[in-house]
Amino acid sequence: MRNVPELFGSMVFNEAAMKERLPKETYKALKRTMTEGTALDPQIAGVVANAMKDWAISKGATHFTHWFQPMTGVTAEKHDSFLSPCGDGAVIMEFSGKELIKGEPDASSFPSGGLRATFEARGYTAWDPTSYAFIKDNTLCIPTAFCSYTGEVLDKKTPLLRSMDAISNQACRVLKLFGKDVKRVTTTVGPEQEYFLIDKKHYAQRPDLILTGRTLFGAKAPKGQEMEDHYFGSIRPRVKAFMEDLDEELWKLGIYSKTEHNEVAPCQHEMAPIFTTTNIATDHNQLTMEVMKRVADKHGFVCLLHEKPFEGVNGSGKHNNWSISTDAGENLLEPGKSPSANAQFLLFLTAVIKAVDEYQDLLRISVASAGNDHRLGANEAPPAIMSMFVGEELEAILDAIVSGVDYTDAAKTMMDIGAAVLPPIPKDTTDRNRTSPFAFTGNKFEFRMLGSALNIACPNIMLNTAVAEELRQFADELEAASDFDAALGTLIRREIKAHRRIIFNGNGYGADWPIEAEKRGLMNLKSTPEALPHYTDDKNVKLFQAHGVYTQAEMQSREEILLEEYAKTIQIEALTSLELLSRQIIPAVVAYSGKVAQSAAAKASIGVQASAETQLARDLAEQTADLMQKRDALAQALETIPADVQQAAQYYHDTVIAAMDAARAVADALETQVAASDWPLPTYGEMLFYV
Ligand code: ADP
Ligand code: MG
Repeated sequence: MRNVPELFGSMVFNEAAMKERLPKETYKALKRTMTEGTALDPQIAGVVANAMKDWAISKGATHFTHWFQPMTGVTAEKHDSFLSPCGDGAVIMEFSGKELIKGEPDASSFPSGGLRATFEARGYTAWDPTSYAFIKDNTLCIPTAFCSYTGEVLDKKTPLLRSMDAISNQACRVLKLFGKDVKRVTTTVGPEQEYFLIDKKHYAQRPDLILTGRTLFGAKAPKGQEMEDHYFGSIRPRVKAFMEDLDEELWKLGIYSKTEHNEVAPCQHEMAPIFTTTNIATDHNQLTMEVMKRVADKHGFVCLLHEKPFEGVNGSGKHNNWSISTDAGENLLEPGKSPSANAQFLLFLTAVIKAVDEYQDLLRISVASAGNDHRLGANEAPPAIMSMFVGEELEAILDAIVSGVDYTDAAKTMMDIGAAVLPPIPKDTTDRNRTSPFAFTGNKFEFRMLGSALNIACPNIMLNTAVAEELRQFADELEAASDFDAALGTLIRREIKAHRRIIFNGNGYGADWPIEAEKRGLMNLKSTPEALPHYTDDKNVKLFQAHGVYTQAEMQSREEILLEEYAKTIQIEALTSLELLSRQIIPAVVAYSGKVAQSAAAKASIGVQASAETQLARDLAEQTADLMQKRDALAQALETIPADVQQAAQYYHDTVIAAMDAARAVADALETQVAASDWPLPTYGEMLFYV
């Protein structure tokens, strides 16, 4: 039996390690920085660095790295050893405060969206003391933010930290109006992570999986997920062994891995951790994805984090469970038990409703990617239209508030804000609607549009900042009011009424929802190239500038990076398709149909009738000609890519994807007619139902 409490966090320079290894005063100063977001005294950095190094060496580490999250969507690291020569060919192990606080990686090869002029290649990384350092692969990893030398952000952590400051500032103002002196409010996140595990030997034979993360070809297997036997099904021993190992590795890193189960599609699984502060949850989710891949490899698996590795069965997403709580541990999205507590709850709830309605586009953009385009609106994940589910009880309460009538439930509660007690909102019934992109689940919201591979920083930056803005407006208005209770009632009633349209409790997968949504004036940004240009809409630039999260230049760079990333992703997919067609699929069909033709000729030469072979050879020849023509059309489509990045993204979406799909349809049909022994790629059946 593993000793979990002992294992947990053993590779993290956490509270316990700090307390043990830092002088009291240093510990206190560091703690202040961590909890109150105050600047770190450079003097104490040296003391911390030395203690960290000694701790890391005691755990077998030899190197350190600044671990950061550039715009590539994955984490980056550059390892330096602690080694320092001390004369006579001897070395000592050193790590200075300066090395802890600041690093200077060459920034020129990271996406910057035109922010960093090429002559200014330097960037720097700065320690984020609010996220613990940890050891991975014998390397002390220091979570850091990444900026250009002129101070523009080049990463995902910096704006996330800024957005957390923004919501904290505004939420504290609002809480003051309720008589609460709160210094810091934090948002919390528990991200549920879906993934596929397939056998390494199949992966090795699929260039499409290797190069693009998804299968670009593959006929549907005779069996998919229709028996609904995989979801929560008993876990294969091989997968169980992987999960146990995964838990252990995550626990060592202080990640609260909690729940594991099989998901809907064959060989699809999920891991959910216990929630924590958003920036730590973000670091942990990035680490989780990395550890999943590494542990899978040890077990002869490959872990696929792509949003849609296989056509015809569900793809993978990530649910971002999000809430706001005070430094005293009060969850601000927990319905209250007293009149003033539920007035406060209703105000925060109103802020979220208003934020989601006014910044639908930003939330949609925050989950936009080529991979996720396969899921959103495809009846396995929420539609591309933003809406909110609050559950029947809460919806009835909100309606009662708007109309000013009595809310008549079993408890016959009169919805006079500030006077009535909210009826208990049962958590289990609020969670039933799985088709909603943004669902209230009793004491938190579950944002369900995220793709499985996404860095969760982006959706949380949007969410934190948008809610901060609404809280700012509320605080401005309520601070100026002479009668707080009356002003509060007026505000909540007015805002719920104005943003009622975003609440939708019906079936998000239904064909009538997009029509209804259009009537309500909600946006339906169907694809990534359609969504991204709204990033820099005036209202969005204003929002981020006002809260010091992004400058306009930073936003423009991000929009460009994301559009480019989309275009490059489809380009790589198209080139991989072409290569597979020309070098594997067409040659396989030609070889097989050649054998059929030979057999027909051989039979005919001895006077045996060969109509079946002749027919098959003819059919295959016809389809092969069709496939070659579609391959050529795809190649041709790639020759006329527009120069403008936005137009290019749109062109890839409209023209290139269509050409790829057309070729795939013919190739997949051919797969079902060619002998198994002649087909060069592992089939869906083989990959999804490995033993
Ligand atoms: P499910 O959505 O599958 O029913 P759970 O209700 O167990 O799952 O919770 C899903 C996730 O929500 C978990 O990661 C959990 O830690 C997280 N969660 C619970 N409370 C909060 C909160 N206050 N803030 C953020 N996440 C939370
Ligand atoms: Mg969930």
